[in-house]
Amino acid sequence: MTDSTKSKSRTLLGRLREALAGEGEGQERLDRITQIIAESMECEVCSIYLFRDDETLELCATQGLNPESVHQTRMRLGEGLVGRVAKTSHVVNTADAPSSRGFRFMPETGEEVFPSFLGVPIQRLGERLGVLVVQSREARKFTDDEVYALEVVAMVVAEMTELGAFVGEGAALSARHQQPVLFRGGVGQEGAGMGHVYLHEPRVVVTNPIADDPHAELARLHDAVDALRVSVDEMLATAGNGKGTGHKEQMQVLETYRMFANSKGWMRRMEEDIARGLSAEAAVEKEQSAARTRMGQVTDAYLRERLHDLDDLSNRLLRILTGQGNNTGAEMPDDPVLVARNIGPAELLEYGRKLRGIVLEEGSVGSHAAIVARALAIPLVIHAERITTEALNGDPIMVDGDQGIVHLRPDETVVEAFKDKIAMLAKEQERYASIRDEPAKTRDGKVISLSMNAGLIADLPSLESSGAEGVGLFRTELQFLIRNKMPKRAELAALYTRVIKAAKGQRVVFRTLDIGSDKVLPYMKPQDEPNPALGWRAIRVGLDKPGVMRMQLQALIRASDGKPLTVMFPFIAQFNEYRAARALLEQVLKREKRLGRPVPKVEVGAMLETPSLAFAPRKFFEEVDFISIGGNDLKQFFFAADRENERVRKRYDTLNVSFLSLIERIVERCDETGTPVSFCGEDAGRPVEALCFAAMGLRALSMRPASIGPVKSLLRRANLDQVKAVIDEARARGDQSVRPAVMGWLRGR
Ligand code: PEP
Ligand code: MG
Repeated sequence: MTDSTKSKSRTLLGRLREALAGEGEGQERLDRITQIIAESMECEVCSIYLFRDDETLELCATQGLNPESVHQTRMRLGEGLVGRVAKTSHVVNTADAPSSRGFRFMPETGEEVFPSFLGVPIQRLGERLGVLVVQSREARKFTDDEVYALEVVAMVVAEMTELGAFVGEGAALSARHQQPVLFRGGVGQEGAGMGHVYLHEPRVVVTNPIADDPHAELARLHDAVDALRVSVDEMLATAGNGKGTGHKEQMQVLETYRMFANSKGWMRRMEEDIARGLSAEAAVEKEQSAARTRMGQVTDAYLRERLHDLDDLSNRLLRILTGQGNNTGAEMPDDPVLVARNIGPAELLEYGRKLRGIVLEEGSVGSHAAIVARALAIPLVIHAERITTEALNGDPIMVDGDQGIVHLRPDETVVEAFKDKIAMLAKEQERYASIRDEPAKTRDGKVISLSMNAGLIADLPSLESSGAEGVGLFRTELQFLIRNKMPKRAELAALYTRVIKAAKGQRVVFRTLDIGSDKVLPYMKPQDEPNPALGWRAIRVGLDKPGVMRMQLQALIRASDGKPLTVMFPFIAQFNEYRAARALLEQVLKREKRLGRPVPKVEVGAMLETPSLAFAPRKFFEEVDFISIGGNDLKQFFFAADRENERVRKRYDTLNVSFLSLIERIVERCDETGTPVSFCGEDAGRPVEALCFAAMGLRALSMRPASIGPVKSLLRRANLDQVKAVIDEARARGDQSVRPAVMGWLRGR
């Protein structure tokens, strides 16, 4: 780039800045801008097209086309050359527009056809705002330099659009981020919540896209990049002391950061942007925008991750440049709904119960953040694409965790309907609260024990509020999963002590570490297994590498302080695994006794999560102290349908007669030997499923605390003999699932 191009570009930006700073409405500003660009680029035409809705572009200002067509000429995304630029986010540069693919002549804009056309997208951080076009009578292709210059101008126009410089009358000039937007995502945690947006990572606001003194801007950029490099090196040095795979991943990300921070291409492009008149911040953001656009276009997961890394790094750099830390001074509203691209479990725990809802752009049902959201009973919607771009701090927002829907800046009717829903839920909660201390006793006098599933300290308050009869499943692995290193025995013992204390004498069933499959400890070597759900997991790991299990059992024994303790081993597929696990426990007990510590009486159970165990020898049922059916895994193996795979997960109904008959058989076998049996998979918390399980003979269910009220409420209104009769009839008829019959019966009452 020659010095004269640089200075030409700076003069143009300088003039634009004056035009933007001047008095006047948005429309006047746009008009002036097109005039200046046309003059400066020596073109007959300059036009600005902005989106009036997601699918339609509108000509909002022009120099050179028929002024009457402003706000009249519109095109669909992808239509004509302008629509093509908008759709692909790619520049179109041609000396022969009429023969170019997609060309459409719009007579209303003037009788003339201009052969040369250059269109560049106006976009900001992956958000498409419009298209900036220059056209000329002389048939020529624009030089790379001119293309670049127009891209820089488009960047400034994008920034100014974001700052509200062009707000005026009509949909295309309406203020940005003011309209209601609906997001359809996935269900992370059920429930409904409304409040105001609180961005986990607030957007950095660039208020000065144009700068006078390129030398000063370059110096600012270099200082900021130096500071960034130092901070990345420091992070690497700190992370270098860690171990395990999580650590490896973190190192990988940091190495990528370092690579970008030292990347000559990245620096050179930003330096060029500055030489053309952009401020250091705007230069960083221009590169960031380009990376976001690429992010939306690449399908390769690895490349996408790297572009994400570049995006994160750009944010860091912008924060250094603007002095806006993570804390932009935005106050947390009284009713915060957290909006983030993604969030770690520890960070989420820090926000705690004050959140009314959580909306993530990424995330997954089995993610640790989802586990924490569930423990805190906060409605969570995942995969809400682009919400971090659209939402502003303080925007009103409603989260419908049942449907996976988010209403951002909702209009009155939606607000009213949503309030009704929340009121209805609150009323239901009141009803559940009124039966909290009542037993789950059916009309025909059968009592079902309802306990809760837990795994975090954050779950403990629910013990009291839900009316749970103790903890039927304490998933001990959650404490391992939310950390970045293996917890120590003393830490675990202290934690289990808190759990036992909170239970106030009620039974807590501690399940030993259940890792592998979808639960991968960040600090353990990952196993390269073709089929992790059928692989080295749960008790298989515990028996092969008994060190961790022994340490955990010691912690449990110490926490029990001589009082009765309940331990359950996960994923027992055959008798000898139970025996081996129990023998390990006996060894640990003996050792503790030798050390002079008080030893508890331990009840030792097995989780029945594979069909094989249902057909184990009678002796197994005699030896085991109790059985808990892990329905999530049992169902996945019974139907050979991955519980994490949305495509197959819901294909097989829990109320399928085969599955119910399996449950019935397990209950019969337990009854034969007097072995207590319960069910602790997610289905226990679904009222109709719970009712059918009870009809099959189960007398103990363990579920999410929030499900206890609804399940109890239905059980108390039902007659189990009648439900059993409905199920038997359906089975005799050859129904595939008993659901239609049971639902019909429930409705008929
Ligand atoms: C189950 O499999 O049903 C169960 C309760 O265990 P988890 O969901 O933790 O695998
Ligand atoms: Mg399981």
